[in-house]
Amino acid sequence: MAPTRVTYRRRNGWNTTSNLTRVVRTPGGELRLLHIKKRGTPPKCGDCGIKLPGIPALRPREYSQISKPKKTVQRAYGGSRCCNCVRDRIVRAFLIEEQKIVKKVLKDQAQVDKKKK
Ligand SMILES: [Zn+2]
Repeated sequence: MAPTRVTYRRRNGWNTTSNLTRVVRTPGGELRLLHIKKRGTPPKCGDCGIKLPGIPALRPREYSQISKPKKTVQRAYGGSRCCNCVRDRIVRAFLIEEQKIVKKVLKDQAQVDKKKK
């Protein structure tokens, strides 16, 4: 059988990303172009840039159509930062607070020593 030519089925005649197609064989045996939708890009961690696990890669419109729990994970910074970056942030904040306490204690001790003298 000779190869069949297939034509676009929409008015856009240019080979663009929004006009991607795939050749399919219909149940009636004819070849036809199937228009493919653009692929979504997965949301990435704002700090390290890895793909966020547990959140689907969708087009912007599709994100507006799904519910909030499908776009996030139940954690501080869920759906925005990955678990390792959140852990780093928590550890960093803890250490900064500890440092502040240490400074305060040292300052108080210095004052006590001054008063003794
Ligand atoms: Zn990260």
